[in-house]
Amino acid sequence: MTALLRILLLLLLPVMAQATSLSLLASDTRLLPGPAMHYWPDPDGLADIHSVRQLADSAWQPVARRDASFGYSKQAYWLRVTVHNPADEPINWVLLIGNPLLDKLDAYGLDGDRVYQAGDQRPFEQRWVDHRQLVLPFSLAAGEERELIVRMQTDGSANLSASLMSAEAFNHHEQFMLLLQGLFFGALLAMMIYNLSIFIITRDRNYLWYSLFVASFSFYQFIQLGFALQWLWPNLLAWHQMSFPFSSALATLFGILFTYSILDFKHQHPIYTWISRSLIASSLLVMGMALSAPYTMALIGSFILLGACAIFGVIATSLRWRDGFQSARLFALGWSALIVASLFSVLSGVGLIANSLLTLHAQQIGMLIELVIFSIALGVRIRHAQSDYQLAQVQLFAKEHQVRLEQAKSLDLQRQINDGLEASVQERTASLEQAMRELSTANQQLAELSRHDNLTGLFNRQVLNQELERLLAQAKRSRQPIAMLMMDLDHFKQVNDQHGHLIGDACLQHAAQRMSQRMRVNDLLVRFGGEEFVVVLCDTDLPGAMYLAEKLRNDIATHPCEHQGLSINLSLSIGVYALVPDADTSREQLLRHADQALYRAKAAGRNQVIDYQAFVSGNS
Ligand code: GH3
Ligand code: MG
Ligand code: MG
Repeated sequence: MTALLRILLLLLLPVMAQATSLSLLASDTRLLPGPAMHYWPDPDGLADIHSVRQLADSAWQPVARRDASFGYSKQAYWLRVTVHNPADEPINWVLLIGNPLLDKLDAYGLDGDRVYQAGDQRPFEQRWVDHRQLVLPFSLAAGEERELIVRMQTDGSANLSASLMSAEAFNHHEQFMLLLQGLFFGALLAMMIYNLSIFIITRDRNYLWYSLFVASFSFYQFIQLGFALQWLWPNLLAWHQMSFPFSSALATLFGILFTYSILDFKHQHPIYTWISRSLIASSLLVMGMALSAPYTMALIGSFILLGACAIFGVIATSLRWRDGFQSARLFALGWSALIVASLFSVLSGVGLIANSLLTLHAQQIGMLIELVIFSIALGVRIRHAQSDYQLAQVQLFAKEHQVRLEQAKSLDLQRQINDGLEASVQERTASLEQAMRELSTANQQLAELSRHDNLTGLFNRQVLNQELERLLAQAKRSRQPIAMLMMDLDHFKQVNDQHGHLIGDACLQHAAQRMSQRMRVNDLLVRFGGEEFVVVLCDTDLPGAMYLAEKLRNDIATHPCEHQGLSINLSLSIGVYALVPDADTSREQLLRHADQALYRAKAAGRNQVIDYQAFVSGNS
């Protein structure tokens, strides 16, 4: 059995020995030198090229994998590979060190005694080829075999990512890679501008966080792929070292803010907010570490942060998905693409999986997948927002319709109120008019009353004053006679004295009534005052007046006042004055002359009629 193993080993040894010299055959494919490489870890990092060249073969250990990768180890590593040109003409080849973040790399045997010295902790201008990665060119004469020795030391991930290509193949490969990188960063830039524009228009924070995430992630990738040192800060070596964990933590920070915002953690269980805040604080802490703490510490911090965010992201997104949150599904898909890619990147950095083009660009690929998925998610979001808007519009229309209805109702109500108001105003006006009519009637009645004597109901003296003037003017105009009777009840004081005032009043009413009965339509009978009466007769001459006076006197004398079983005899003295008035005839004249005639009648013994003319002519 052991013999068999020994034979197998013997069979294998030539293969391994052959593998130690790498034949560079002209071809477009990349050669991975890992299997042909040997390494020697320099314990104190002090060895120089001479001492290394003198090392015994046994000191060297085979790399025995596709790529030399030692994880995060600060140790200096020496690596050697023997290359051989089997062709019969000289060749130009390139050793490409694909890890742009290596701190220091020295290479020997490329070009005579000239030592290649580069790395991201050395000024960019020292590089032989102006390239983001480390490009080590060398030429081999026909049939030449040469040993290339490389020393690497870094605070970051100690992986070489080495490959060998003919100069021609490298140029070709590089053209293609630059196209891909241009497309990649172009896509990121477009995405960033697009989301930022949407944010500016809609003020939806989700788009701001996403565009900031894309920006910071682009920045991180720009650094990781070596573009930043080449184009942005070729001499700022200290900052360059810090920038890698710093940009990683920055991208993580905006990733958390974006996740927090788009999955609406704010309105979920408080644990979401609590964890998110812790992660945000951690991101800030890692950024602080990147700027002040040792590089390795910051780097490890950024990896732990990324791991924690990945775990939280997966759990939280799944839970939100389970809650039925629509966006969570696409969102989970997008994040997991990036998380898986980042995991690849971290694992290859640590050395757990071999480096390759795929692992080097894993995050870029993951990010592109994520970009596409998030674009869809944001599109869906916009569509949701649109349908929300449409819904809101429909609701707005409904509201507007309702408002219109209410308006119509209130107008109707107002109209009703107006109609009612009008009706009640009409009612009020009618009753006011009625009241006015009543008032006017009352006034007329009052005026009428004021023309009459309360006791007898005859016209009062005021009416005589007004009417006498008019009747006199009329008589003057028509040249017709006018007559006046002035009448006074005889010894009326005695009636009052004997029977009292109330009986006296009844007698006055009795006399007035008897006089009224004898009056014609045009005659004016007034109570002149106390127990005195005046009659004005139009178109009546003296004989007519005398006739009426006599009738009146006789009537009173022959008709006593019957009241409360009493029969009270009354008599009347009358003075008569009649004339055809001329222009000088006055009201006062009529009254005075009639009164004088009455005075005569009293003087002559009462109960008699005296004509003014008669006693005037009698006197004269
Ligand atoms: P003569 O014959 O001279 O006219 O005597 P006489 O008493 O009638 O005259 P006199 O002027 O002295 O008195 C008038 C009286 O008439 C006095 C007054 O009491 C009475 N008298 C006047 N007005 C009224 C009245 O409205 N009612 C009553 N009951 N008596 C009245
Ligand atoms: Mg008298
Ligand atoms: Mg009298």
